[in-house]
Amino acid sequence: MKFSRFVLPLITIPLILCAADKDLEIPGLYGGIKPSDYVTGRFVPEKNPLFSSLKKSGVPAKGDWHFLRREAIASLKKLYDDFHAEHPDEPFQVQSSTRNFFSQKTIWESKWKEFSSRMKIKSNDEKGAAAVASAILRYSSMPGTSRHHWGTDFDLNELNNQYFETGKGRVLYDWLKKNAARYGFCQPYNAGRKSGYEEEKWHWSYMPLSKKFLEEWNNSCGSDPGAFSRRGLFTGSEISGRRSHEFVNEINGDCR
Ligand SMILES: [Zn+2]
Repeated sequence: MKFSRFVLPLITIPLILCAADKDLEIPGLYGGIKPSDYVTGRFVPEKNPLFSSLKKSGVPAKGDWHFLRREAIASLKKLYDDFHAEHPDEPFQVQSSTRNFFSQKTIWESKWKEFSSRMKIKSNDEKGAAAVASAILRYSSMPGTSRHHWGTDFDLNELNNQYFETGKGRVLYDWLKKNAARYGFCQPYNAGRKSGYEEEKWHWSYMPLSKKFLEEWNNSCGSDPGAFSRRGLFTGSEISGRRSHEFVNEINGDCR
């Protein structure tokens, strides 16, 4: 039952999203999936042998359905064990992990509906639609442009910066800032960037893989600014799609 929401749209959405001139697979990196499809989330993570369930790993997670790349899970388990040994009473829980194109499309379109209604934007108001896109893009990605597609990125504890500024949230955040890099993790959306998403103290990335996937995203999609602005790709794609390059690339320099 869980597969149907990912598998069905594969048949109905046009197959090519971004295409690189030289779309070669590095053995083992993409599990037989075309690299440009992988980095834009056009695959089913639970069916890919390079992914594993967080549930089996011993890393606490909210709900049952959480998949990440095996390398990211192995390193996250070490990080969790060391944090937990130092702070046995502090919460540590993965809230969100891999989401593919179709899962991100569902999130994006539900936010589009909610924000359009809240901002009272009519369907033919182009300026209004651009404002809706900007409001969603403060914290959420267009499908095909999310780091959550890659199996390397996850969200911890609370999707709220204030939580990480005091008490238990602060203990975890300070520990991660000091130690996460030793395990290969970085915070892509840190404070002080000029554009892109706002700061996200909860979002962390397994860099040894994600920096390769970022390069591949730029290789596949970066040379075609119109790749995500095809009308009908997702609601508002013709308005927001041209901003994809900015949002994918405006990240913490430590994550490159
Ligand atoms: Zn996130």
